[in-house]
Amino acid sequence: MGLFRRKLALVTSLLFFCLLHVAFCEFGFCSDLILDPGHSPGKPGATSCSGLPEYQFNDQLVSTIERFLAERGLACDVTRRGREELSLKERGAKARGHKLFLSVHHDSVQPVYLERMHGQLCSRKAHGYSLFVSQKNAFFETSLLYARVLGELLVAMGFQPSTHHGEAIKGENRPLLDPRLGIYQFDDLVVLKTSEAPAILLEAAVIVHPDDERLAQHPAFQRAIAEAVVQTLRFVQNTSP
Ligand SMILES: [Zn+2]
Repeated sequence: MGLFRRKLALVTSLLFFCLLHVAFCEFGFCSDLILDPGHSPGKPGATSCSGLPEYQFNDQLVSTIERFLAERGLACDVTRRGREELSLKERGAKARGHKLFLSVHHDSVQPVYLERMHGQLCSRKAHGYSLFVSQKNAFFETSLLYARVLGELLVAMGFQPSTHHGEAIKGENRPLLDPRLGIYQFDDLVVLKTSEAPAILLEAAVIVHPDDERLAQHPAFQRAIAEAVVQTLRFVQNTSP
């Protein structure tokens, strides 16, 4: 009985805080940015060249960005934490009330390019970051503007965009809206098209590439991405109503 009461109290308080958060967002008190760490322990995403699940890279990068923002007095929300499981539509719905939804992922290549290296499936086909926007998002033009700002910052910091998603093969063929900045159009990415705010999906590095995987694990790499996100957020805050 005691355990049941404690569980009930926990569920009630969680529900209360969720409702409080929704109410806050409805009245315009949301933070401007919501970060979405892609995948989850139940749906881990790609597998890196050393055999690690993608969601761990995404969670690590999001927590670095979140900490980096907090150190600069900037708040953000996060769609998923820990072992929580969320559908793509639930992630998109959480964007409501924010000015930018940024989904954070780490990239792979088509299976045809994977080969065995030290017992794992890896590839040297592609490396670098990619940015995606969806024309089906209700704020497509703003999403593209913010993606350009983030892309310019990343390029200025020395990041290289990857163009491998534009290759004319099955599974790719994504229109490259800006090859110099690595911005692709991917209309049916569910988190982007259902996001109730301007939305960008970032593939920070190609983790099936052994060099890119090592780079993605480096704290300096994560802090540089975080700095680019901080500056993008400041642009969003200075230009949006
Ligand atoms: Zn992913």
